[in-house]
Formats: sequence, structure tokens, C-alpha cells
Amino acid sequence: MSYASAAQPVAVDHGQHPLPSYLDASNLGPWGNYLQQVDRVIPHLGSLARWAETLKRPKRVLIIDVPIHMDDGTVAHFEGYRVQHNVSRGPGKGGVRFHQDVTLSEVMALSAWMSVKNAAVNVPYGGAKGGIRVDPKKLSLGELERMTRRYTSEIGIIIGPNKDIPAPDVNTNEQIMAWMMDTYSMNTGSTSTGVVTGKPIDLGGSLGRREATGRGVYTVGCEAAHHIGMEIKGARVAVQGFGNVGGVAGKLFAEAGARIVAVQDHSGTIYQGAGLDVPALLQHVLATGGVGGFAKAEVMANDTFWDVDCDILIPAALEQQITADNAGRIKARMIIEGANGPTTPAADDILQSRDILVLPDVIANAGGVTVSYFEWVQDFSSFFWDEEEINARLVKIMKHAFAAVWDVAQDQKVSLRTATFIVACKRILHTRELRGLYP
Ligand code: GLU
Repeated sequence: MSYASAAQPVAVDHGQHPLPSYLDASNLGPWGNYLQQVDRVIPHLGSLARWAETLKRPKRVLIIDVPIHMDDGTVAHFEGYRVQHNVSRGPGKGGVRFHQDVTLSEVMALSAWMSVKNAAVNVPYGGAKGGIRVDPKKLSLGELERMTRRYTSEIGIIIGPNKDIPAPDVNTNEQIMAWMMDTYSMNTGSTSTGVVTGKPIDLGGSLGRREATGRGVYTVGCEAAHHIGMEIKGARVAVQGFGNVGGVAGKLFAEAGARIVAVQDHSGTIYQGAGLDVPALLQHVLATGGVGGFAKAEVMANDTFWDVDCDILIPAALEQQITADNAGRIKARMIIEGANGPTTPAADDILQSRDILVLPDVIANAGGVTVSYFEWVQDFSSFFWDEEEINARLVKIMKHAFAAVWDVAQDQKVSLRTATFIVACKRILHTRELRGLYP
């Protein structure tokens, strides 16, 4: 082949390029669900739809090997990920998850939902997420620390206070954030508190961060209840997952006079028609690690959780819990998604046809990242706010963001999920267009 012919540009179709197979919606899983959600918003994007392909491809995907010395002298290898879905509006931002079911598809979807969530509440971030496929309950504290530090060191090439800021997610907590902050700081040679959020208060963490996701769930739940004429006082609430998100939301709803009638987590499903004693249940979870074995409740078969008579259902555990198989059984009038991605697109359609209002994850659980933003701002300015101020600012942002999404849903006669995607994707793609392509 002559040089001239080798240099000829390959003829390409500048229409829709086929996606690489790992980005394809037919590869079911959370990423496939996310792509279906994007397809539903594209017709509402007007001229910005020209940039929509951006939303279907993560900007950067890092897959890493995380080898550590185990206590028994062997070496174990774990697979880890950090995905930066979009950084048009600011640095990547999103949690790190340690779970035995973590996959690339899941982390990609979670990173994309972070882009949408951050834009929906208008915090100046793109979207990112990380994870390690590991059951952390099987590790000793020393193994957990070594794994966290090696993972942080490996992703150190793409994170940083102005690049990408991790935070807690499923099975990660303040201690893990402290190790991540320390590892990054040791590697860069100076203490850098702003590299992660969700840190202990004494290391630049923010008051109110631990409760923020649950508080946001409660805030948007109250706003939506007001719109549909539902009283919180006396409302029956079922919660799946009773940790940082479900536990705090459950407590706030109970304090407002709602009855928490059923709770499900990895340890079982419990029921109390008159309303569970939430403070006692939170104590029990703290002591035993789950709701199972709580004395002041009946035990239910796990699958019957979806049949519980309730007004509000709060899935606050993992994704893909509400599917075409159980969406027809749900009795709630309103679902508040504390978890990321708990409802599949097929289930969304069933719920909509049954007039069940879904407050989607990308707005309902945005309270956590909103206070992460406050933490990051406080770290940069080395000036810390009191909890009252933090909660007041959080509630203001959540109410404002929810009101905007509610109006779009009414105007355009779309679900709240599609409305949130419309608001958020327009913001993301507008900055994409303003920045332009380089080169
Ligand atoms: N992991 C949380 C979420 O899914 C919080 C992320 C953050 O604070 O950056 O929204």
C-alpha cells in the first residue's frame, strides 16, 4: 500500500455511530437502564439534542487491579473502577462503593446518574463514581484499610480537589474517606482535605453530611406530598434499606407523625401496622448490623415487602429493586428513591400507568452530594458553618430544585424522572456547547 492511500481518511457516516458493545443498551444492567432514560429525554432537548451522544459515553473509564496482603499471608486481587462520566460543568463528583456485585456497567450508570443529579440541583460538578468488587464484611479492618489505600493510590492519577472528588456510597464511610484523604495527601506531599467529602468532622468534614441524603429524601417527599394533597401525619411508610439514607429518612418521617410500618434490609423484613418504634429500631441496627431480630415487630417473608399496604415507599438500598415483576403489586401512592437506580424503565411505565408518583433518585437523593458540595467549599475556604446553616441551605436547594422539576413535569406532561433529566441534561449540554470541542 502506498503512503498516499494509507493516509486517505476512512469514509465515516457522521450520523449515529454504533456504540462500543460495552456501552450498548442491549447489554442489560444499570447502564442499559440509564441509556433508556436518556433516550426518553432526547426528544425534549431541542437544538441541544445534537450533543446528546455525549451523555451516552463516559468521558473516562479506569479499571484497576487492587492487590493487597491478606492477614493470612496470601495476596488477594480485587477489581476496582473509577468512571468520570462527564466533567463539562466542573470536576467529577460521586461516591465509592464496596460491594460484591459491583460491575463496570453499574459504576458507569452510577457515574452518569451523578452527572444528572449534580446538574439537577445545580452544584458545579460533573459526574463520577467508583467501586471495588468485594464483600467488605469479609475483610479485617487492616485488610479494608490496605485495600482502600491501594485503590486510592491507583485512582490517584485522575482524582484531586479540582479533578474528581470521591465520597461515601454503599459500604463506605467516614473512616474510609479519612484513609483516602490521607493516601492522596501522602502521595501528593501536602494535606489535601478537599480531595474527598464525607470525611470525619475533625478532618474537614461537614456537619450534617451524614444525615444529608435522608434529609433530602424527606424534604422532597414533603414537597411532593403537599402537591398531591397527602398528609405526612399518619401516612404509612415502607422503607427498604435502613442505613444512612433509609434510616435517617425513616426517622424524619416518623418525627413528622408518619407511621413506619415495614422495613426491609439484608437481614430480613419486619412489620408493625401501628408504626415501628424508630429510635429503638435504629439502636438495634447500630448494635446488630440489621433490622432482623428486632423484638417489637412481626417478621415478614422478604418478597411480601412489595405487597405492604402503605402510602409512601422508600427504596433506599440498591438498584433494580422495582422491576416489571413487582411494580404491579406496589400499593403506595408515592415512591421516593433514596437509592440510585432502584426502578427499571419497564417498572417506571407500569407505575406511571397506575398513577403512582415516583420521585426519582436524581433529585430525591441529591441531598448527600449537595452537602458534599458544602463540605468542599468549606474545605477550600477553611471556614466551617454551623449545622443550622447547612440544613437550611440544603432544604432551600432541594425545594428549589424540586419545584423546577415539578413545573417541567406539569408543563411537558412527562414523569418527574424525565423532567429531572430535561432540566439536568439541558444544563450539561449547554455547557458542553459553550465550551466547544477541542481541538
Ligand atoms: N454517594 C452519594 C450519591 O450517590 C453521594 C456522592 C457525593 O457526595 O459525592 O449521591
